[in-house]
Amino acid sequence: MMLPIPGQSEKAEASALAPARLPVFKKRLPVMPVLTLKPGREKSLKRHHPWIFSGAIARVDGEPQAGDTVEVRAADGGFLALAAYSPASQIRARVWRWTPGPVDDAFLTMTVRAAAGRRETLAAAADCNAQRLIHGESDGLPGVVADRFGDHVVVQLLAAGAERWRDAIGAALLALPGVRGVSERSDADVRELEGLAARNAHLCGETPSGPLPVVEHGLHYAIDAGAGHKTGFYLDQRDNRLLLRHLAAGRTVLDAFCYQGGFALNALAGGASAVTAIDSSAPALAIARTNATRNGLAGVDWREADVFQLLRQFRNEGRRFDMIVLDPPKLAPTAAHAEKAARAYKDANLLGFKLLNPGGRLMTFSCSGGVSADLFQKIVAGAALDAGVDARIEAWLHAAPDHPVALHFPEGEYLKGLLLRAG
Ligand code: SAH
Repeated sequence: MMLPIPGQSEKAEASALAPARLPVFKKRLPVMPVLTLKPGREKSLKRHHPWIFSGAIARVDGEPQAGDTVEVRAADGGFLALAAYSPASQIRARVWRWTPGPVDDAFLTMTVRAAAGRRETLAAAADCNAQRLIHGESDGLPGVVADRFGDHVVVQLLAAGAERWRDAIGAALLALPGVRGVSERSDADVRELEGLAARNAHLCGETPSGPLPVVEHGLHYAIDAGAGHKTGFYLDQRDNRLLLRHLAAGRTVLDAFCYQGGFALNALAGGASAVTAIDSSAPALAIARTNATRNGLAGVDWREADVFQLLRQFRNEGRRFDMIVLDPPKLAPTAAHAEKAARAYKDANLLGFKLLNPGGRLMTFSCSGGVSADLFQKIVAGAALDAGVDARIEAWLHAAPDHPVALHFPEGEYLKGLLLRAG
């Protein structure tokens, strides 16, 4: 006889009597994917630099999709941040917050409101109706750029996380006092690096009935929310354009890379004796002409040409100017392009120095994230040397204060400029 195994017969009896047991489905709480960094790679995050490069990541646990929120941990497992995952980008994640907590509609709304709130104290002058409301990482909203033109906002969503929260960001912008509509201009090249397709569409609220009126230091412009560069207007140069206005009286001025004429019109408004403006884009020049008419300003010699070629031609013709503005497009989007860009900056500045009258001023800019202020100064100094011009820096120029730079995010300082006076 087999000895019963203790407890087994009771169990068998009990199960024979009990009703059939239903399978138990345990409710699984969504588990946040985790990025664990390689040892030592947490340092920049501890200093609140908001980018996590692919090379810093040891392990990804879970299966995050583009734009999903991931928890970032140090090699020892310690919490570092919550970030938006971007599998296609070298910048594999961008930080939303440094403390544990939700990343949801309410969080995005609060962050958008805080960014807009900070601008209230910057109080754009009464004769300006346009302002940058959100400046990406520096406002805690990686990949989000939003510019306000009167009662309309144009937003760019340039990273996977920004894309994921499009509706919340749009709704938060629309809820700001006085905003009636939001358009999206997410067609910048940087989206390609994030594996995102271009998107140029109305987002929410009212659709603008026509061009958006822009007023900047009393000058009037109009932009098309669905066309033009970036959000349609380079708000970052607002105060530098005003500076030119204050320096232009009685001077001959050259505005190279003039786009829709911002610097050229300020020169005229400041009493310049003659203004020449160059751009290779016919549509930009057509708008520039309209802008001149809109302000009752006449007399700009608008030239559709390649700046490098036309400056050479001017040099060969012996033309000279009292003031020259060089505001080229982003020649080095990342540090990898810096060397090639450096040659182009040097070339443009060398020509600029050669075209300056003695005692003249050069206002020269770089908006390349890949070229530091220090490198830019060196390039310009080299150009002056080669041109045989003795020059001194009268001012370091930056983007207007509604384009802040988070202290721990030097990449935010993309626009740098020098006001130089030739000897
Ligand atoms: N200064 C302008 C912004 C300039 S944006 C403002 O204050 O609004 C850069 C401009 O350079 C663009 O309009 C672009 O069409 C123009 N551009 C780019 N490459 C050029 C080239 N090689 N020659 C002339 N214009 C060029």
